Amino acid sequence: NNGDEKIDYVYKVVVIGDSAVGKTQVLSRFARNEFCFDSKSTIGVEFQTKTLSIKSKVVKAQIWDTAGQERYRAVTSAYYRGALGAMLVYDITKRKTFDNVARWLEELRVHADNSVVIALIGNKADLEDKREVPSEDAMEFAENQNLYFSETSAFTGDNVEAAFVKLLEEIYAVV
Ligand code: GDP
Ligand code: MG
Repeated sequence: NNGDEKIDYVYKVVVIGDSAVGKTQVLSRFARNEFCFDSKSTIGVEFQTKTLSIKSKVVKAQIWDTAGQERYRAVTSAYYRGALGAMLVYDITKRKTFDNVARWLEELRVHADNSVVIALIGNKADLEDKREVPSEDAMEFAENQNLYFSETSAFTGDNVEAAFVKLLEEIYAVV
């Protein structure tokens, strides 16, 4: 915990995407380096914070997690309010969650600021044998839409921190 450190910036980031893609686990891996095997679909906190050094500034990332309302497409505009960045997560083992990425981009277009920085995250990369979304498809889509892209595993921790750092660095560059 860096509670005594001087904070230069607080960046709000929202995590969105279909239910069960691993949003909550990606966040808890990043914020607490934990993976919880019996995680329920809901954890009762609105956001978690992590303070880290970005381009030699002290940045407090305030990362918002849904409480299951994405299941009903009922994420409110309050959730998006003031967000500088968005982690749009799909599950590489569920094609449908990738097909729905376009809907989430539309949600962002409606509710979030125009300048919101978006990272497309293909999670559950540890489940290669169950893969339904080729990396190339996602990479091409991300390129066309001007999004950052990486594949992560909340389970092993692969790329999770790197993906958040990349997003925070880009926010730093644009704000
Ligand atoms: P959310 O609804 O998007 O918040 O999804 P959760 O974080 O609750 O995760 C849904 C399920 O996927 C849980 O059973 C997790 O244990 C599992 N899960 C999440 N991330 C990963 C991952 O990277 N790899 C694997 N193998 N399972 C994951
Ligand atoms: Mg969740």
